[in-house]
Amino acid sequence: MKKQIAILGSTGSIGTQALKVIAEHPDLYEAYALTANNKVDLLIEQARQFRPEAVVIANPDKYLQLKEALSDLPIKVYAGADALAQIVESGPIDIVLTAMVGYAGLRPTMNAIKAGKVIALANKETMVVAGELVNALAAQYRVPILPVDSEHSAIFQCLELNNPVHKIILTASGGPFRTFSLEQLQTVTKEQALKHPNWSMGAKITIDSASMMNKGFEVIEAKWLFGVRPEQIEVVVHPQSVVHSMVEYVDGAVKAQLGVPDMRLPIQYAFSYPKREPLSGERLDFMKCNTLTFEAPDTRRFRNLALAYEALHRGGNMPCIVNAANEVVVASFLKDQISFLGMSDVIEKTMERVTFIQTPTYEDYVETDALTRRVAAEMVINRTY
Ligand code: NAD
Ligand code: MG
Repeated sequence: MKKQIAILGSTGSIGTQALKVIAEHPDLYEAYALTANNKVDLLIEQARQFRPEAVVIANPDKYLQLKEALSDLPIKVYAGADALAQIVESGPIDIVLTAMVGYAGLRPTMNAIKAGKVIALANKETMVVAGELVNALAAQYRVPILPVDSEHSAIFQCLELNNPVHKIILTASGGPFRTFSLEQLQTVTKEQALKHPNWSMGAKITIDSASMMNKGFEVIEAKWLFGVRPEQIEVVVHPQSVVHSMVEYVDGAVKAQLGVPDMRLPIQYAFSYPKREPLSGERLDFMKCNTLTFEAPDTRRFRNLALAYEALHRGGNMPCIVNAANEVVVASFLKDQISFLGMSDVIEKTMERVTFIQTPTYEDYVETDALTRRVAAEMVINRTY
């Protein structure tokens, strides 16, 4: 039986690479549903190639164009956020790959869990915002959440059945500004930030990588995925991105997963788990990687990492606040409305202003997200940070 896969965000960086995995294994995987936000032309092209049962475009303005372009095929066409949240519940779907970006991924992910679907989790923001809630749901519905983020996939691949993790060592590339001074960081542009040294990814996560908020989010994601305490998670800067992350055990043994930077591997592993399947592409050549280096992260220059740790320690809706403020400032930075370092200022101030809730419900997260966006956007516009 082929595994039926729904891809939330099939037109993005993770989504298109997931389709490459499916194309490489037509005997194993089938695209059951494809969804996108805006890129209707690419979605049409993907639908014509992969012939899913259904496609969903989140932006309702694009519905007619999509519907017409696929009218000769037996593909169901839907539009809007509600349709997107509902499509994941379709009976035949085995795995939902959450490859959409940001807070918007939370609702469809929760729906997919309630419908008993295996989650291949790329959308880390979902775990950052509501990890506790998502974990509780996954336990209630007995649904596995399989990591797609390369670091978490690496850790997952290093886990042992009978031995608990002693420490998680998350590697970070350090991004394009790893060696920049605080003074230099004051004037960096979005064009510089969008040039990641090792990975080609969507704009939002690329900016998050440059500011190291991405690593901060990954620390929070690791806590919820692997059930460890914050003190058990260490970040190590490793500019070559060959060691994808490591696990230390009580006896001091450290296991690492290595490979060339290629997201198709963690995507495919989430699809094929617990098996491994062949995968085309470049292999790690140790004769060519004779320098693997490691250094401590600098939270003075990369304050977002410290802010994410703080949010993790405070818990409650604080990570939700940090995520929403971050989504606002990253969008603003991409429109040249705020400086690189200004982003951390806004996030920090927003953390002080939005009401803290120790044990939030789903509705509290929805409210916190909306309120935080208003507070952060106002700060950016009025420059009150
Ligand atoms: P991307 O911007 O390239 O693609 C995002 C996809 O989500 C697109 O298909 C877009 O149409 C869709 N989308 C965006 N907003 C939406 C909304 N409001 N409603 C519905 N659909 C929406 O992003 P990406 O780089 O592929 O990242 C996707 C997720 O995976 C992010 O959460 C990111 O943190 C995570 N991730 C990405 C990588 C990577 O290598 N790209 C690695 C690890 C984790
Ligand atoms: Mg990652």
